[in-house]
Amino acid sequence: MEKIEHIGIAVKSISEANKTYEKLFGYEHYKTESVDGEGVTTSFFTCGESKIELLEATRKDSPIAKFIEKKGEGIHHIAFSVKNIKSEVDRLKKEGFVVLNEEPKKGADNKWVVFLHPKSAHGVLIELCQERD
Ligand code: ZN
Repeated sequence: MEKIEHIGIAVKSISEANKTYEKLFGYEHYKTESVDGEGVTTSFFTCGESKIELLEATRKDSPIAKFIEKKGEGIHHIAFSVKNIKSEVDRLKKEGFVVLNEEPKKGADNKWVVFLHPKSAHGVLIELCQERD
């Protein structure tokens, strides 16, 4: 693991959350991006070497919609950047982690992503991400 790439926060309204986080940081987000496969719109803020990713559901069956229904707004996942996502997945499987998608999928912000089940990590959904070429 190289660093915390970003922390994902589930929000009801990305435009409202953008305003809040713009006040918090004192500067604007650097991009908005939709990931159709996941049913989300995302907004990214830099914070030093790491980022904050705001996530709003774009449809009812989106994982973010389900998360907010159950738990309300809040921290949804922590993402770590890795150099080689496939070898990390192999290593973590051997360590007993439950991998939600073994085949890396296209995530926001030009990344390949794999998720580990929160049960494997004491209640925290973990995202591994590798820069896409
Ligand atoms: Zn993420």
